[in-house]
Amino acid sequence: MAYPKSVRICDVGTRDGFQIEHDFIPTRDKIATIDDIVAAGVRKLEVTSFVSPRAVPQMADAAEVLAGIDKGPGAEFVALVPNLRGAENAAKAGARSILLFVSASETHNATNVNRPIAASLDGFREVMALAARHGMAVHGAISTSFGCPFEGDVPARQVASIARQMREMGIRHVALGDTTGMATPPLVRAAVEAVRAACPDLAIALHFHNTRALGLVNVMAGLELGITEYEGSIGGLGGCPFAPGATGNVCTEDMVNLMHELGIETGIDLEALCSVARKVEAMLGRQLPGQVMKAGPRSRLSGIDCAVRAVG
Ligand code: ZN
Repeated sequence: MAYPKSVRICDVGTRDGFQIEHDFIPTRDKIATIDDIVAAGVRKLEVTSFVSPRAVPQMADAAEVLAGIDKGPGAEFVALVPNLRGAENAAKAGARSILLFVSASETHNATNVNRPIAASLDGFREVMALAARHGMAVHGAISTSFGCPFEGDVPARQVASIARQMREMGIRHVALGDTTGMATPPLVRAAVEAVRAACPDLAIALHFHNTRALGLVNVMAGLELGITEYEGSIGGLGGCPFAPGATGNVCTEDMVNLMHELGIETGIDLEALCSVARKVEAMLGRQLPGQVMKAGPRSRLSGIDCAVRAVG
């Protein structure tokens, strides 16, 4: 099996993870977390979203976060925008990259943004024009690409059709999102192959949730298909809005650990990233689901004086 030689890891924790936190995270803590993740070597982050502060109060400081982060190390900072107004606010705040999202399921799109998929895609065309005027890069995300909590299976041809429409409006990079953790390796293969057949020159990223403990298994499926970009969240932050208490995004450090053990380069310092995850855990005051942040990489050995007898 030939895996990619290197992959790009995008951390979405400060957006996808933080947005479901009930208590408002101070802006300076959000900025410090982003700066720390970048200092550990991550070169793409979804940092915030320009949504209505009434809908998502946690993201009300999007402009301040974007203004406050250290742009020095040359990472790409992506802001999620739900519509033209969000894109205008992102442009005003100096965003260089924005992310447009639509669901592959009509029912999920209706519950999420209250409009049909076709209307979401029409809205993207207006955003593309605005982004061109402001020189912002536009990425796409297709949520519920591997299953919908209301409709069940989502046909791969539906995902491919949306991807093709995004490509035709000039989007070159699309993430297939497993919003509620319904992906499995066969579904990953079906969706990726359908999207590739429909748009051969589209860059594909994979965004899995670990809701049913298949997160890294699905990452492996993506690696076997030659996909070179994956999204995760620091410490495994996040959750599933339809399954209270369920695990959120694939954990970035756990994914980086897997990549390194497969001999795949990420450019990320795993120990440094684990320190950031522990810092975020302390900041939020509850245990995060990440595993490697607790056990350390397998290269970290224990002293013999730590040995415990008679354990399985
Ligand atoms: Zn997610």
